[in-house]
Amino acid sequence: MSRKPDVDVLVLGGGCAGLSVAARLAGYSGTDLSVRILEPREQYENDRTWCFWGTAGHRFSGQVRHRWKAWLFSTAQSSWTQVSKNGISYQSIAADDFYASTVQSIEQSDRIELSLGTEANAIDPGADRVNVETNRGQLTARWVIDTRPARGQDDAPGFAQVFSGAEIETEAERFDPETAGLMSHMSCDSNGFRFTYILPFSKRRALVEETRFTAAADRSRLESGLEHSLEQMSDGSAYRVLRREAGRIPMSTRPAPQPASDRVFAAGLGGGAARPATGYAFSRIQRWAEDCAQRIRTGRPPAGHPPDPAWRSFADGLFLRVIEEQPEMAPDLFLALGRRVPPATLVRFLSDEGRLRDFARVAMALPKRPFLARLGTAAAA
Ligand SMILES: Cc1cc2nc3c(=O)[nH]c(=O)nc-3n(C[C@H](O)[C@H](O)[C@H](O)COP(=O)(O)OP(=O)(O)OC[C@H]3O[C@@H](n4cnc5c(N)ncnc54)[C@H](O)[C@@H]3O)c2cc1C
Repeated sequence: MSRKPDVDVLVLGGGCAGLSVAARLAGYSGTDLSVRILEPREQYENDRTWCFWGTAGHRFSGQVRHRWKAWLFSTAQSSWTQVSKNGISYQSIAADDFYASTVQSIEQSDRIELSLGTEANAIDPGADRVNVETNRGQLTARWVIDTRPARGQDDAPGFAQVFSGAEIETEAERFDPETAGLMSHMSCDSNGFRFTYILPFSKRRALVEETRFTAAADRSRLESGLEHSLEQMSDGSAYRVLRREAGRIPMSTRPAPQPASDRVFAAGLGGGAARPATGYAFSRIQRWAEDCAQRIRTGRPPAGHPPDPAWRSFADGLFLRVIEEQPEMAPDLFLALGRRVPPATLVRFLSDEGRLRDFARVAMALPKRPFLARLGTAAAA
């Protein structure tokens, strides 16, 4: 008789997706399933800030660092601030708080083990188990959840949201902590559409990110854009950089490649977690983690991210193609969204909960010509 696999569930990658699903599994009693998470890092750092729209009570309420009830869209000529009236706010969680709380949940379970300093390499799925090579030897598992970033994810070709940011503290009071600068100073140049993302945590402290939607990110331009924004924000007064963060989030409606085995499940950014038209992934990862953990708890195999409904993929794809092919239109398109779409509808649209009628409302707010022209080109192709 063959030996039992080493663990029931092996999670490759202890980042947002891996820790989210493992922390939920750690909270379940009445199951004896064993779980192990492999993470190459030796220790966690405050390497990112997750933002999402939410109400007061949710799993991470205790870790929310700041909430904004107003968010701003602006160009050099015009600006528009949306104010939430229904209890929904834009919320931020610092990565170090998220890592600390999820790791603490995991450490309280004697069925779940987090192996830091451990890198997963080749995966070999068999009939009744999966063999995983690691830098510390081989492991076998009944199921594998693979949340490792896709190979070359940071410099892969394709349209993406690319950003570089710094959290700064200014000597003078420079920020309005009530309003998030969702898309500030939007403009377009020869490297495509750009804007500054500003999260003010207090009057003197903010995360400022130079952001581009582009297929060909020019890194040096991104960095010089950030330095320019920091100078502008501080308006000549002294400032101190407290930490930096950067990233690239793919913006594509093409489905993420899925593992060719019914024992291996891709999840997280490499498994298609990000909403194509916006790059938001945190809330989608939390919804996936809840569903995946429930499945495992009830004896079913894990699952990857569910595909988006066809109408949403179509709408996202059309929106992305217009922005990619006519980036000079993007500032006016986003300004129109801020100005003409009610906050609750826009939040549902941006945060993945939009229904068909929300999309219809967004479509009504946008200038029709570029979308009809793009539809016409697609039909003629
Ligand atoms: C700076 C930044 C800010 C972001 N802000 C937001 C935001 O505000 N809102 C939002 O919705 N989304 C945001 N995102 C997008 C998305 O939510 C995050 O990227 C999120 O961390 C994705 O989770 P993940 O688990 O897929 O990837 P990660 O959190 O990156 O986790 C992947 C893990 O795999 C590990 N790993 C790598 N190689 C191996 C290996 N060989 N074996 C085992 N493990 C391996 C890595 O060390 C890492 O811990 C942001 C992304 C970045 C980079």
